[in-house]
Amino acid sequence: MGGSLTVPSVPALSYSSFRTYQECPLRWRFLYVEKLPEAPRGYFTFGRVIHSVLEELVAPLVVPSARRAGESDRQRTLDEWHVRSSTPTPVRWMSSEELLAAYERAWSSEGYTSPEEESRYRALGREILLRYYEFLVRDRPVPVAVEEHLEARWDGIPIHGYIDRIDRTPAGGLEIVDYKTSRDLSNDDARDSDQLSLYQVLVESNYAEPVQGLTLYHLRSLTPLRTAPRERGALAGLHDRLGSALDGIRAEAFEPAPGRHCARCDFQDRCPEFRAVPTADGERLRSLVDRFEALRAEEGRLESELRRTAEELHRAAEELGVHRVPGSRTVAVRRREEAWQYSLDSVRPLLERSGLASRVSSGTPEDVRKLVRDPTVDPEVRRKVAETASRRVKWYWELEAGPSES
Ligand code: SF4
Repeated sequence: MGGSLTVPSVPALSYSSFRTYQECPLRWRFLYVEKLPEAPRGYFTFGRVIHSVLEELVAPLVVPSARRAGESDRQRTLDEWHVRSSTPTPVRWMSSEELLAAYERAWSSEGYTSPEEESRYRALGREILLRYYEFLVRDRPVPVAVEEHLEARWDGIPIHGYIDRIDRTPAGGLEIVDYKTSRDLSNDDARDSDQLSLYQVLVESNYAEPVQGLTLYHLRSLTPLRTAPRERGALAGLHDRLGSALDGIRAEAFEPAPGRHCARCDFQDRCPEFRAVPTADGERLRSLVDRFEALRAEEGRLESELRRTAEELHRAAEELGVHRVPGSRTVAVRRREEAWQYSLDSVRPLLERSGLASRVSSGTPEDVRKLVRDPTVDPEVRRKVAETASRRVKWYWELEAGPSES
């Protein structure tokens, strides 16, 4: 795909654009070059509404931080924040009734599959907002920005993103908060989140203060899933992947990448992966597929029957102490294969003490086997390493020509 279609100019990558390209380059083209609309989905609409009401709720609390560039004169300064921080700045805080009124104003019915689904989501939103409101009244955050659009060039890669909230930490740094309305989230999600990593880079590129925390805020359970900011080395992998995506976009590499995600793709009717078989060939191909399916099922059945028969033969041969069992036409011969297994975890401390750890750097047991056979290695070390091995015996059967065939 691609070639004839030109990407207007290399776009800045947002997290969702990057993720879309990684998942399926062709879908990226449909969305970001051809700008085809997607069907609305209730859960996206719901997330958007909750985000916009939270923005309205938290915006009055914002005390802008010292920015690197482009500050407005009217913004309060960081120094002013420090003076006021011991006594919270009086702000016009929404009442819970006003919050619910804002929610009703923002509500959209777009994308819900039924009135029941919409009313379930609507009630859930009310519950989330009221519970979060009570929490915020008790434990007021100190945001320096809400729903802020940030841009940066990360070592040559243009990136951008909308950050739900950036809070001042008690130590004077910044904490990035991303609201999530999804059902389940775990600490691992926060720890592994590329989205939070990208936001960290955006905030560090635009703010003078250090990022001290990254949080996915799970709104359904009012749980902040906090994680430390990423180290430079941990960000390098993301930078490489963003670079590869950008290279692909520049080269207009828009091949389809089918997978489970196709189930929620709106462009199946345009995608070659889902092109329909011409009617004239339908019958012929259908019978081929049916035959293939039947053979596959037979293959599985035969494999498990073969395994069961070999096991039964093996048990009988063990009981009788025999290795050659004549059949009507052939003789089944029992063969033995023996392998010594090494556990790298138990061998490594021994090799480290002997200064030989680099010999198993590839992390495969084959390295240990080579070392045990190597005559240049101290025989005492080889003996000790060999003693950690465990023996694995595998039996299998072969067929030889029987007496009548020879
Ligand atoms: S249907 Fe699947 S392969 Fe085709 S564009 Fe959509 S996501 Fe990509």
